[in-house]
Amino acid sequence: MSEIKKLQDGIYCKIIPLKGNPLKSINIYMVKSKGEAMIIDTGFDTEEIRKEMMDYIKDMDIDLNKTILYLTHLHSDHTGLSSWFAEDLGVDVYISDVDYQMVSAMASADSKRWKDVMEIAHMQGLDEDNLKIEEHSGYRYRPKRDFKHKSLNPGDILKVGDFTFKGLDFAGHTPGMVGLYEEDKKILFCGDHILKKITPNITFWNFETGDSLGTYLKNIEKLRDLQIEHLYSSHRELIDDVPARIDELKRHHAHRIDEALKTLEKHNECTVRDVAVGMHWDISARGFNDFPNTQKFFAAGEAHAHLEHLRAIGKADFRKDENGVLKYFKI
Ligand SMILES: [Zn+2]
Repeated sequence: MSEIKKLQDGIYCKIIPLKGNPLKSINIYMVKSKGEAMIIDTGFDTEEIRKEMMDYIKDMDIDLNKTILYLTHLHSDHTGLSSWFAEDLGVDVYISDVDYQMVSAMASADSKRWKDVMEIAHMQGLDEDNLKIEEHSGYRYRPKRDFKHKSLNPGDILKVGDFTFKGLDFAGHTPGMVGLYEEDKKILFCGDHILKKITPNITFWNFETGDSLGTYLKNIEKLRDLQIEHLYSSHRELIDDVPARIDELKRHHAHRIDEALKTLEKHNECTVRDVAVGMHWDISARGFNDFPNTQKFFAAGEAHAHLEHLRAIGKADFRKDENGVLKYFKI
């Protein structure tokens, strides 16, 4: 069982393992003040994590009638147990409308959202990898029932005892990620917007969402203007030097944009898969071809986000071939 740490007055954290996932663990924060409580994110929908959360609730001695759950964004390591919280425990669940629409559309196994994920894999040129939706961790660990939600959109206020949080638009990692900022106490819960050591995955969602990398690079700059004494991110250790970490992440993406452009330069036209093969990956010493299928979804999504950013800044474009596969080229 994981231990609970007190981080400062009213703020606690339990680090819950995410077995078999490269993220390793998730930091589940709790705000407890004047008899009220807020839990931030849930971990995957597994029996083990459900038990961890039940123990967390018991050990912290919180009243579930005066507790809310806040979901920073739609990913299954953050929302897996949300229908359990909402429907079984009767806890009010807050999340942005944008991410709620997506997580709600993913609940059913045969929903359009999962068909779209497979269609996107086809467009990215991944047919040869024989990916199956069951291998997608977002599919496996998602909340499997829809749940009632309350909106917490950018600019909205959320009060928990002595704490007053304001929602900040941190779109990029997901289309509707919202951070919680406590201005007086200079506390920021940033979800996966900025993480120590690991680079938040920026993926291609769909053509309506468009250039998610461009959105991310714009929204990461917001952190520079905020007064932050306590930055609580969702994975790994806490970041001490925020501006330096922003610079590192921007350099990382500039390098990857360059890698994608170099692959385009070498060929007349490329699939998203070709570009992913040409990129350097940190998660293993090997390349894209040796990745397990579950990682191929994410790696292709990331390569695609960089290509769509190149398209948004006028350096690349694509055509659809006769099979519906996207062929990108430099312009
Ligand atoms: Zn995430």
